[in-house]
Amino acid sequence: MLEEGRTALGFTPDEDEVAWFNDLNRRRTSGPRSPQNRTFDGTAGEATLAVHSGTYEDPITGSVGTPIFQTSTFHLDETSYRAFSIGATRDVPIYTRYGNPSQWSVQEKIAALEAAESALVTSSGMSAIAATVYALTNNGSHIITAYDVYGGTYNLMREDMPSAGREVTFVDATNTAEIVGAMRPETQLIFIEGLTNPLLKAPPLREIARIARQNNALLVVDNTLLSPVNMRPLALGADLVVHSATKYLNGHSDLTAGCVVGSRKFLDRVWAQTLRFGGSLEPLSCFLLERGIKTLPLRMRAQNANANGIAAFLGQHEQVKHVHHPSLANYPYGQLENEVHSGYGGMVSFEVHGGDKAALKLMQHLKIPYTATSLGGVESLVSMPANTSHSSLTEIQRAAIGIHPGLIRYSAGIEDLTDLIDDLRQSLDAL
Ligand SMILES: *Cc1c(COP(=O)(O)O)cnc(C)c1O
Repeated sequence: MLEEGRTALGFTPDEDEVAWFNDLNRRRTSGPRSPQNRTFDGTAGEATLAVHSGTYEDPITGSVGTPIFQTSTFHLDETSYRAFSIGATRDVPIYTRYGNPSQWSVQEKIAALEAAESALVTSSGMSAIAATVYALTNNGSHIITAYDVYGGTYNLMREDMPSAGREVTFVDATNTAEIVGAMRPETQLIFIEGLTNPLLKAPPLREIARIARQNNALLVVDNTLLSPVNMRPLALGADLVVHSATKYLNGHSDLTAGCVVGSRKFLDRVWAQTLRFGGSLEPLSCFLLERGIKTLPLRMRAQNANANGIAAFLGQHEQVKHVHHPSLANYPYGQLENEVHSGYGGMVSFEVHGGDKAALKLMQHLKIPYTATSLGGVESLVSMPANTSHSSLTEIQRAAIGIHPGLIRYSAGIEDLTDLIDDLRQSLDAL
């Protein structure tokens, strides 16, 4: 009985074996998934996909949600042995580091939201990024990235890549002339963020994708700050998308996870890399992440609106020196407006008069947001780059990259906008 059920998984061994060996492209187009994973055609909207796509419909119990497949290993049978013999072990549950139906369900949901063939979930954003960068580059190759990428990514590029034989050039990714100038014959990868933190800079993705294609390099975009609700980099020409799913995708500040999204061809390579690095996502976390993503479109709409409202309020306040937000008239990266769907996410950063001392005081007076790093949860969070993410730089070095004294990072949650603004007003007035 077990054997019968499992033969229905992804492929029928005998026929597929022959077809696979005869297929010059040797490429599966989507998944991995089982017949129990709910799929939709291209007409379903993002809210429908967020709720339903990928759900494992259990044929025995009729459970409405995906069960938690809390197991490290699976019965071996003819289907699994065939999978080993033809190298298709990503498509059959064999061992949870290789794959697990809890992973498949949430992967299918993420792939649907990014309109991609395949996705891979990992134990953190950094595990997704490290596996992707290693999988897509070789010893002797060259990588172009931005000097202001997420700190963990920066350290990976600065410390680990050179010792692994990859040279890295750091550029201002909003300046495409710098990217073109950094290109070499051996450049294999451009790695950038769709919207940066904390200054919300936006590199012109369509143009950078064109530069990458012209030079036979791959473009990977970290889409953490915008989420697929606001931007789909694959549609703009990126080859792969990575996320810290710890942030908006999960949305409840209660787990760490990461994901990689794109074509099955590239995802199989990244998957093979994670087999060696480890960093697969544990089944219970898959369940939590899948549940979190069901409300992603609802949450993003609220967070987009809250950040727009906060930016507009701060822009008018006399204690505020400068506000960084794409909704404001002084925002320098105009092309972003044509690359996003519905907004810019929940992040706003701003400088107060009086420098870091005044910023600290402001944070102490805020009653609603917690002072904490991270972003993308339902609760608003505030922090200062000067004493957290950028504390290892001197004040002069910080100023050189645009982080001036008094800069606060406000990650808006889904609370009532009037409450968040009243709270900001009372703490600004107290300065
Ligand atoms: C948080 C974050 C990461 C790292 O993700 P973890 O889940 O903490 O490993 C990578 N990129 C960006 C843009 C982030 O905000």
